[in-house]
Amino acid sequence: MHQITLIPGDGIGPSIVDAAVNVIEATGVKIHWDRQLAGMAAVEKYADPLPDATIESIRNNRICFKGPLTTPVGGGYRSVNVTLRQTFNLYANVRPAISFDGVDTPFRNVNLVTVRENTEGLYSGIEHFIKVDAEKLAAESIAIVTKKGSERIIEYAFQYARKAQRKKVTLVHKANILKCTSGLFLEVGREIAKAYPEIEFEDKIVDACSMQLVTKPETFDVIVTTNLFGDILSDLAAGLIGGLGLTAGANIGTDAALFEAVHGSAPDIADKGIANPTAMILAGAMMLEHIGEFDAARTIEQAVRKVIRDGKVVTPDLNRNSSYGTKHMADAIIREIVE
Ligand code: ATP
Ligand code: MG
Repeated sequence: MHQITLIPGDGIGPSIVDAAVNVIEATGVKIHWDRQLAGMAAVEKYADPLPDATIESIRNNRICFKGPLTTPVGGGYRSVNVTLRQTFNLYANVRPAISFDGVDTPFRNVNLVTVRENTEGLYSGIEHFIKVDAEKLAAESIAIVTKKGSERIIEYAFQYARKAQRKKVTLVHKANILKCTSGLFLEVGREIAKAYPEIEFEDKIVDACSMQLVTKPETFDVIVTTNLFGDILSDLAAGLIGGLGLTAGANIGTDAALFEAVHGSAPDIADKGIANPTAMILAGAMMLEHIGEFDAARTIEQAVRKVIRDGKVVTPDLNRNSSYGTKHMADAIIREIVE
């Protein structure tokens, strides 16, 4: 029996999390869901967007399945997602981008995974204005890249590649200009690559990489990069396969791992029952893989792909003429699993 912390989230969160839980349970994997609140739902009940009980639950279970959260505007609340990342040292953000048959995009045969360093780089939060006579004359932001942090993320990327039987790791950088920060990251990558002779290693400068992603996306396999480049390239990759509604993400840390949809809480469609549950369901598949339930993970992924390929029982974002909603689509996926 697996113990997993379950956070339904805000907006469309509860509906897509509910759909994903039903799909996961249809595989027969035994999970005890430890339900906890965060985001607006927690503010309403406990006046705290991230209650101690939620943190404790994740600390104990070490695995969390999380719907999208809204950070309340005003009231001085910190972003819940940032706090979770820092509390559990979630250093690796992993996002597969694999083309779907049945989703209309200009790109075919995309099958790549971005592994983004998520704790350092330009997002270390060390930023300030330089003032002269109380006038803001300049601003500076400091990027931190450590040898340890680089080793940790690049090692993770290679281990992931090995486990997922992927063939190539592309390290993305800007070492021609950022000779220290990007230079160190690249140097560490070249060193670690030697320990994985069966996996091809290449490095690419981020601008050239961006162009190649939209001209020859099929040439990429695993991409590993620093925080800012990873933020941008992983959204770009999601766009290649049809957008954020289809993209799942894992946040892997030293103290816990957290699985989620990449999109937000989409308040505009929150009460309509039409949110696409795909990203959340695929986050569930990533989580099952992480906890060693490989067959269940594969079964879910295949069922989702079949339902999208058939293009009938899908949410309106995938088929404008569809009158089906979140629950119909999840039920169609469940039928594929149990039949
Ligand atoms: P947040 O403030 O939590 O990020 P948001 O309104 O920015 O919420 P996003 O999820 O970032 O919402 O996405 C922007 C828009 O994309 C949404 O307003 C919604 O119309 C659409 N969208 C996002 N996710 C889904 C989904 N799962 N199914 C259908 N449409 C979606
Ligand atoms: Mg958003």
